[in-house]
Amino acid sequence: VVLPPLREVIRCHDLGAKKSLGQHFLLDLNYTRRIVRTAPDLAGRWVYEVGPGPGGLTRAILESDAAGVVAVERDERCLAALEDLRSHYPDRLKLVAGDALTVDEAGLFGEPATVIANLPYNVATALLFKWLDRLPLFRSFTLMFQREVAERICAGPRTKAYGRLSVMTQWRCRVERVLDVPASVFVPPPRVASAIVRLVPLPAPIAPAPPELLAEVVARAFQHRRKMLRAGLRSLDARAEAILLRAGIDGTRRAEELSVAEFCRIATVYSETR
Ligand code: SAM
Repeated sequence: VVLPPLREVIRCHDLGAKKSLGQHFLLDLNYTRRIVRTAPDLAGRWVYEVGPGPGGLTRAILESDAAGVVAVERDERCLAALEDLRSHYPDRLKLVAGDALTVDEAGLFGEPATVIANLPYNVATALLFKWLDRLPLFRSFTLMFQREVAERICAGPRTKAYGRLSVMTQWRCRVERVLDVPASVFVPPPRVASAIVRLVPLPAPIAPAPPELLAEVVARAFQHRRKMLRAGLRSLDARAEAILLRAGIDGTRRAEELSVAEFCRIATVYSETR
């Protein structure tokens, strides 16, 4: 049995893209194959895909030597459209109806999963933050983001894109922007360009820090990215100046100049003085 072309799947199942679900489909199988090739370590692994849509990326994963795909999709229309694909790969494709933001990934696969997804942009960073808090469940992530978000994830200090997303991600993962994807590849094309980012969890965070305090310190510091740190952190703790001193960080510096390890030092001192 030959699978119908993706455009036909969309036509037969009336899959007009819904903006509210961030639907921008990839129908070019050369591109979906290229994306799958950038994912590390696929052979024999289970892949977790969020939002398979009409199934273009899913097909490319199933063509690879991955063990199979567990896919979570919110849109009932897409789930119906994916039935053909499921009967084509009865033992290798598991479809789960649900919301990736609330699903418990621990119940979806028996071993750490390789994540590959063309993420719905309206929930992409929320999903990333959720996964960062559950890293032992995952082996690696190969994810499509808006290019501007991809830049923020991968940015280093003293750049405009460096911020909360960069620090909280790079604290626990090796990150790399691996492929730029023009808007014209999607149906319908989004207003902005996209990029694939690969994230691989580190064996341990690059410096120790209590996760919740680190998140708080980083959020406060970048709320006023151009202000001096001691001013930005005062809203967190009246003793900001003393905490910075103990952490060995000059309070006149700005958030965007600090390395990830320096933020960790502030959070650690803060936890010790509470
Ligand atoms: N993977 C498909 C592709 O590349 O053609 C579709 C990608 S499209 C950018 C995002 C997909 O995620 C849509 O199919 C949408 O219905 C689904 N989606 C949106 N929000 C979701 C959520 N919270 N949980 C699960 N799936 C979601």
